[in-house]
Amino acid sequence: MFKKILIANRGEIAVRVHRSCREMGISTVAVHSEADADALHVKMANETVCIGPASATDSYLNMTAILSAAEVTDAEAIHPGYGFLSENSKFSEMCEDLGFAFIGPKAEHIDLMGDKTSAIAYATELGLPTVPGSGGVLKDEKHAEHIAEKIGYPVLIKASSGGGGRGMKVVHEKSELVNAFNMAKTESKAAFGDDRVYMEKYLITPRHIEVQVMCDKHGGVWVLGERDCSMQRRYQKVIEETPSPALKDEQRAKLFELCEDVCKKMSYVGAGTFEFLYENGEFYFIEMNTRLQVEHPVTEMVTGLDLVSWQIKVAAGEKLPMINGGFKPRGHSIECRINAEHAETFRPSPGKVTEYFTPGGPNVRVDSSLYTDCIVQPYYDSMVAKLIVHGKDRTDAMARMKRSLEEFIVGGIDTNLDLHKRLISNNAFLSGDYNIHSLQQMIDGE
Ligand code: ADP
Repeated sequence: MFKKILIANRGEIAVRVHRSCREMGISTVAVHSEADADALHVKMANETVCIGPASATDSYLNMTAILSAAEVTDAEAIHPGYGFLSENSKFSEMCEDLGFAFIGPKAEHIDLMGDKTSAIAYATELGLPTVPGSGGVLKDEKHAEHIAEKIGYPVLIKASSGGGGRGMKVVHEKSELVNAFNMAKTESKAAFGDDRVYMEKYLITPRHIEVQVMCDKHGGVWVLGERDCSMQRRYQKVIEETPSPALKDEQRAKLFELCEDVCKKMSYVGAGTFEFLYENGEFYFIEMNTRLQVEHPVTEMVTGLDLVSWQIKVAAGEKLPMINGGFKPRGHSIECRINAEHAETFRPSPGKVTEYFTPGGPNVRVDSSLYTDCIVQPYYDSMVAKLIVHGKDRTDAMARMKRSLEEFIVGGIDTNLDLHKRLISNNAFLSGDYNIHSLQQMIDGE
């Protein structure tokens, strides 16, 4: 097992990775920007290295600085967390070339799945159902028109290199298409440095359902159940839960079998998530994330596993033990993403946290980088905490989440805690009958 791991990230996920490392007796190296000198992940780590100025491009995305930090501290492995360099195959290759184990999948799989059009083509080849669409990059306006006529409006134009819900354009009719196509290309170029776009049928009221997998280097595959991430705002997840209230066991079994089969055919290694849209009883693969996800704790709650420690063990060459009959989730888990943002405008709300009190009691978990008097920096993502609860069933978990939200205090900055309190009491959410648009409808209906 590794003796020392460098955590190439910040915020709650850097703290999360540190915790697993410490429990495994592994020493940690935190890297940080100048702005993050007093951040929690830095205070917790065994060693720290400043890797550059506040801007992420100069620090958390600065591969040379991070690799130099690994070199000078004698780290054996690098955990990239999520975001930043976690899905950068060049970084994973550089790590391996310099003799550091990259705690993540093979570079070829990061590349394959990082490009959404190649991911969809590959998924189709391996037998996953996908959304009707171009199946590849749109060559020009004529091509876009031709595909839209074929699959029927409304359609969605998406960026091949897209992420975080950005670069998507819904097109309701032909007259809007050329404009939307060109805008999507321009926006995609600006956001991702890549103007390639593709097209999918725009599903009207789907749910977002994803499947967590963990695979070792010896062909072992764990399928760790699904997560329902349909509570979204602007295509970004806000609340996640598992199991999904929408699925029946036989649908689950079929979906999990497909994912297991794909992992085996790919010889995939590490943690991964297959994302699907689900509508009228059908699943449609939309992408695969080749890293740990923000919402991984809900899976941990119902499986009792520490996914970060398994990522580390798998990277060190350990075998996943066989689980006869697969994993059966125990109870129900929900996660609320707490963002530092203005309640009405949803604009980020950085600043000093003057008061901080986290909920407790049985089966309540808070993954966060906050502490009293810490500064929420304006340079990075506004998600500052995750509140995760576990219950014996969905009703129990809902009641626990409601109670926990009431206890949570974050003073000095604006947060979306009030929004969560309203959502957790919303009838549509409570009923379990919701889709990717429901959260916005709940806000609009208030
Ligand atoms: P990103 O990688 O930017 O997050 P995804 O492809 O994962 O993009 O999609 C993000 C969200 O956008 C989905 O969870 C869903 O809410 C919505 N979405 C994506 N594709 C479609 C589609 N074809 N029809 C309707 N909604 C979609």
